[in-house]
Amino acid sequence: MKYYSTRDKSIKVSFREAVLTGIPLDKGLYFPETIPSLETEFIEELSNLSNEEIAFECISKFSGKDIDEAPLKRIVSETINFKFPCNKLSDDISVLELFHGPTMAFKDIGARFTSRVLSYFNLSSKKKITVLVATSGDTGAAVASGFYGVEGVDVFILFPKDRISKVQEKQITSLSGNIYPLEVNGSFDDCQRMVKEALTDNDLRSKFNFTTANSINISRWIPQTLYYFFAYKQLTDNGKDIAVSIPSGNFGNLFSCLVAVGMGLPFQKVIASNNLNDTFTKFIESNIYKPKKSVKTISSAMDVGDPSNFIRVMEFFLNDYSNIKDLVSAYSFDDSETKNCIKVLSEKYNYICDPHGAVGYLGVQKHKEKNKDFNYIFLGTAHFSKFMDEIKDCIKEPISYPKKIEQLLSKDGESYKIKTYLEFKNYINSIDS
Ligand SMILES: *Cc1c(COP(=O)(O)O)cnc(C)c1O
Repeated sequence: MKYYSTRDKSIKVSFREAVLTGIPLDKGLYFPETIPSLETEFIEELSNLSNEEIAFECISKFSGKDIDEAPLKRIVSETINFKFPCNKLSDDISVLELFHGPTMAFKDIGARFTSRVLSYFNLSSKKKITVLVATSGDTGAAVASGFYGVEGVDVFILFPKDRISKVQEKQITSLSGNIYPLEVNGSFDDCQRMVKEALTDNDLRSKFNFTTANSINISRWIPQTLYYFFAYKQLTDNGKDIAVSIPSGNFGNLFSCLVAVGMGLPFQKVIASNNLNDTFTKFIESNIYKPKKSVKTISSAMDVGDPSNFIRVMEFFLNDYSNIKDLVSAYSFDDSETKNCIKVLSEKYNYICDPHGAVGYLGVQKHKEKNKDFNYIFLGTAHFSKFMDEIKDCIKEPISYPKKIEQLLSKDGESYKIKTYLEFKNYINSIDS
């Protein structure tokens, strides 16, 4: 499998090179030359296959000859060594819980895969790999955990000041070692811009072996395609069409779902559920894509005003707006709707949902108002305790942190503070070489 740059299709690289470099020099994004298709029999047999078998079959289509069978099997089984339960809330609504990994948010799977693939490709090299990541919270936590102590890899994590939760901040700042947290006086979009700038900065590139673990790296979204196969295999077939609601920010996860559908997974509707950062919702309504500054919400991991993976979503639909609307719907919700939803879910189903999952549930409700029967799945993208301050007000009974989180919160955290790209660059330069 080869990957081309969305800016210039004549630039084609292997899986290995796409993962190692993260982003093409022309600042496009790598995109698979073809969306691989799975055999119908494989899809029909999903419920009889183990997660490992499904994962190997799907991921090997993307990695091709670049990773041999035995190491790929090892990487894949280490990546997905936790549960992905799909729990029924009501007859026609289930929640796929993606927060049973080490940092309790769905980004663990992409980070675990990326760290293992990078370290596999770098085995024979003497030069360190330097990973740059911008985070709205959960990516940084997952990457810090996934890469901590990995030999030959340094990781710089940029997070926006005052815009991530206490738990997320501690997950990022309490590790030290090969993990370098940077607190940016700005938004997530500012963090992302700085990372992109560094990755294409020839000065730095001559010195460092850069890559990124953001969802702009193909190794982040490739394993995320698995969620949808895992969900499908747990659903009981009631003859209804299937709709999945994805709480979205940078649209890596939604893009992964489109790829899974492209590979043959029979989902009939993909719902992009957004908070007030409604650039994509507006686009679906109007065919006008107008990036804006991100606004702060209680579902902070989705506070993205210019989603990086929009380009890939468009590429998937051959850049033709008329292709999108059949498959994708989009809705946006404000914080008061989200808070109310957390309350309702707890009262009606005794289910405690984090603000991101709640936005996903709201997307289901909204879609249900106007459409025929579907079998709905929404994604629970984080464990509620990562966003305790936000949910405490919505739920009557007292809720406490799991022990693991209590311990984490009592640790010290440390980060380097920056405001401009130049400060970032100087910091990177001061660390290594
Ligand atoms: C990252 C994140 C999202 C958004 O995912 P994207 O792939 O960026 O669209 C949603 N919920 C949580 C909890 C997240 O951490």
